[in-house]
Amino acid sequence: MIESTFVTDVLAKKSLIPLLLNSNYQTHKQTLKDEEVEITIHEKGIIEFLPAKYDAKDDVLIISAGIHGNETAPIEITSDIVVDLLQNTQKCKRPTLFIFGNLDSMKEGKRFVDFNLNRLFNEEHKKHRDCAEAIRAKDLENYVCEFRTKFKESQLLHLDLHTAIRGSYHKRFAISPVSNKNEEDYELLLKAMDIEAYIEAKTPSNTFSDFSSRFSNSTSFTVELGKVKPFGENELSDFSGAIKSLRQLIAKEEIETPKNIIIKYRTFSEITKKTEDFHFVIDENDKNFSLISKGTSIFKEEAQDISYDKDLYLVFANSKVVVGQRAGILLEKV
Ligand SMILES: [Zn+2]
Repeated sequence: MIESTFVTDVLAKKSLIPLLLNSNYQTHKQTLKDEEVEITIHEKGIIEFLPAKYDAKDDVLIISAGIHGNETAPIEITSDIVVDLLQNTQKCKRPTLFIFGNLDSMKEGKRFVDFNLNRLFNEEHKKHRDCAEAIRAKDLENYVCEFRTKFKESQLLHLDLHTAIRGSYHKRFAISPVSNKNEEDYELLLKAMDIEAYIEAKTPSNTFSDFSSRFSNSTSFTVELGKVKPFGENELSDFSGAIKSLRQLIAKEEIETPKNIIIKYRTFSEITKKTEDFHFVIDENDKNFSLISKGTSIFKEEAQDISYDKDLYLVFANSKVVVGQRAGILLEKV
């Protein structure tokens, strides 16, 4: 067993979460090694596993959770996997970087403290230097760059795990950024994760997965695994497909071919809140993927009533975002 105070502290609690939530708990950067794996603890929420033997032709992985601090299920799932890797009850057969995103908002049980971290990537953080999340976005970009450079021969897969604010007609879904290189290679994996719907983004954005997808030979997905609940209230059986396939992926075990079908959408347009008088005409509390029949008035802004001559579907409706931010995404079926 690898010896380190940090590892001892994690294993004593069988979870990383108490340490992530304790702002007084800090750990220095350290690299630990045994004959099977080298573990680099960059900081308490950024942990890298490098198997002693791996094939450069295989994918390397980044798994991130808690980019929104109140999205607890992915944090719990990822913490459990890290604990099992540390105590060697989970095999690691490919270089994997685990990232726990927004520790400050996790502690407060909030989506974010000052600003939505998942809108601050691709250098957008430079425009918001005063907020806590801007510093974190820059740090996370640096960790991803460093990891991507270190394994530049390999294909990178980044899974950024989330849960959604509102209910959804498709309980679990993935968003594929416009710069993705090899997204079709991962259809089976997404199916095995019980993903029901897939959104192909047609325009760039400032999300974490969009950032990591821009590197050469890289593919990233924002993965929505269900609904937001506080720590300890998640029914982990709801996430069994995702948990099993993530573990198989890390251990390079064969992932069973599931029979489910993924319904595909592509972005039709992003709704940006341009002024304070922006409001939805439809009920923004409807579930994600609600059908908006053609001709339906969707939102109003500056006395303009917006509708389209096409059946569309709405996800992530939120009129309370700040001016300039995305208030929803309209989709069309592929
Ligand atoms: Zn989220």
